[in-house]
Amino acid sequence: MALIRWLNGANDAGIEAYLGRPTAASRKRVMTLFRQLIECSGRLSRFDTDHPNFDFFDSPPPEITEEMARIQLSIQEFVQVPFLEIAYEDDKAILAISYALGANRALGEQLAVRDIVGLLETRRLELMRQCECHLWFFARKSDQRACSQNCRHRAYEQTDAFKAKRRLYMRDYYALKQSGKVK
Ligand SMILES: [Zn+2]
Repeated sequence: MALIRWLNGANDAGIEAYLGRPTAASRKRVMTLFRQLIECSGRLSRFDTDHPNFDFFDSPPPEITEEMARIQLSIQEFVQVPFLEIAYEDDKAILAISYALGANRALGEQLAVRDIVGLLETRRLELMRQCECHLWFFARKSDQRACSQNCRHRAYEQTDAFKAKRRLYMRDYYALKQSGKVK
């Protein structure tokens, strides 16, 4: 996904040349949009839980519509324009439509925003996550919290269960050492 590669500052020279290296300002705009959407969606679902049968269409709660209006201002900069072009399919030239983004921003940022909007549309926004190691990744399962096996294991080592196990192991180990059974 262009969004993940771009957020992680693609270390592939080809991709970086194509998407542009994310500037701090550009990355901040994308991160802000992402967090606003996650927060707004969380707020809406909490409100919905707290107010069963609430009429969101005729009297939407202002604390949510105000947040939506702020987000709207930043996403409407990224208009998708249908763009007629010649493409190739099975070695034949054909007329095709691609979507150019109309925003006056670096291509990487435009594609990142398009991916975020796409994730919201397909209800997968929550699956985009940041690992403890700061890398962004797309979770394959809703309970996946780490980007890799290594990070998963490192996170496990911080848990009380692991520490307790390790303490027991070390206690037995020292006991054995005292007894002279191991060196
Ligand atoms: Zn990680």
